[in-house]
Amino acid sequence: SSRPASMSLMSQCGEEQVAGEYSKHYVTLKQIGKGAYGCVKMAYRRSDRLLTVAKFILKEKVGAQFWVDGPDGRRVPLELSLLLTLKHPNIVSVVDVFENDKYFQMVMEKHGAGMDLFEFIERRPRLDEPLLSYIFRQIGQAVEYLHSLNILHRDIKDENVIIDNKFHVKLIDFGSATFMSKDTLFSTFYGTTEYCSPEVLAGNKYAGPELEMWSMGITLYVLTFFVNPFSDIEDTIQGPLALPQLVSEDLEQLLRWMLCKEPANRCTVAQLMAHPWIRQPVAIANYVFQEIVDCDRHEANPEMYYSGSLGSPRSGSPVSLADPLAKERSNPSEVA
Ligand code: ADP
Ligand code: MG
Ligand code: MG
Repeated sequence: SSRPASMSLMSQCGEEQVAGEYSKHYVTLKQIGKGAYGCVKMAYRRSDRLLTVAKFILKEKVGAQFWVDGPDGRRVPLELSLLLTLKHPNIVSVVDVFENDKYFQMVMEKHGAGMDLFEFIERRPRLDEPLLSYIFRQIGQAVEYLHSLNILHRDIKDENVIIDNKFHVKLIDFGSATFMSKDTLFSTFYGTTEYCSPEVLAGNKYAGPELEMWSMGITLYVLTFFVNPFSDIEDTIQGPLALPQLVSEDLEQLLRWMLCKEPANRCTVAQLMAHPWIRQPVAIANYVFQEIVDCDRHEANPEMYYSGSLGSPRSGSPVSLADPLAKERSNPSEVA
C-alpha cells in the first residue's frame, strides 16, 4: 500500500539543502525509508559520528501562518520552534539547527532504526492487545502533553510516529501543528484526508482536540486491524464503523468512542488516558521486538551497529558506520 499524502506541501530538495554551516558539522546520507521524502535524510555528526535524522525545511514552502518569532527575534518555522521547546519522552527531540538562504536544517535524534508505524504495520506485527495498548498509550501521553500546552499536532497518523526495538514510540512531524485557543475555531484542515474527522471533512469549523482524537482513533484502528476503517470521504461522513475482527469489549468500546461521528460525544484525551483498555497492565519486558515483527538484525539491535559518543551501546561492541554489517541494509551514500 502507498502512504497517503499530507495536505501540507511536500517539497523537493536539491543539493542546496545541505549548503552552509550545517555541512561543516554533518555528513548527509541517503534518504530515509523508501526515499519518498526528499527532505528527510540520515546524517552523521562529523565530530563523533553520531547518526541523526536531518529534515530540510524549504523556507518558501512554509505557509505564512506557520512562522513564529525565534528567541533572537528572527523568524523560524513553528515546526522547528515547537520541537526545540517541547520536551517529552514520546516526542522526538532536536539536536541541532542550521539555516541557509533557502532551508532550515533541523537535525533530530534518530530513534531506533528509523522505523515508523506505517512500515511497522506493513510488516504485519503479531500484536496482542496489551502490547497494542502499550504502544498506543505513548501516543496518548504525547497528545495529552501537547493539549495541556494548547498545541495541536493535526497530523497524527502511523507514519508520523517512530518506534524503537523496545516498543518505545515518539511523535514526529510538527509541520501541521498550531496553537489553539478557547475562542478561536479553525476552518482549514492541514493533515491527511484519511485521518480527518467527518465534521471537518463536511466543511465545519473545528476547535481542535476533537479532530485530534478522531485521527488518534483512526491510528488505533489501523494498528489493530491493519486496514483503514473508511474507504473515502463519503464513507467517513456517513458510513457505519465496522470492526473486521473480534476484539475485547474494552477495545471495541474505545474505538467506537474515539471514532464517534458526533464531535461533542467523542472521547477526550483525558477520557482516553483514564480508559481501562489504556490502563491495562502490560508485561513489556516479555515482548521481544524481532519476535513481534520481522526485521533484520540492524533493526532488532540498532545500538550494536551505529556508534556515537552520546549514549553507550546496551549490548555487544559498537562498530562504526564503516562496518560492512551496518552498510548491509542502509548502504549509505554521501550526497554532500
Ligand atoms: P513530512 O513532513 O514530509 O511528512 P516527516 O517529518 O514526517 O516529514 O518525516 C518523513 C519520514 O521520515 C517519517 O514518516 C519517518 O519515516 C522519517 N523520520 C522523520 N523524522 C525521523 C526521526 N527523527 N527518526 C527516524 N525517522 C524519522
Ligand atoms: Mg510526516
Ligand atoms: Mg509534515
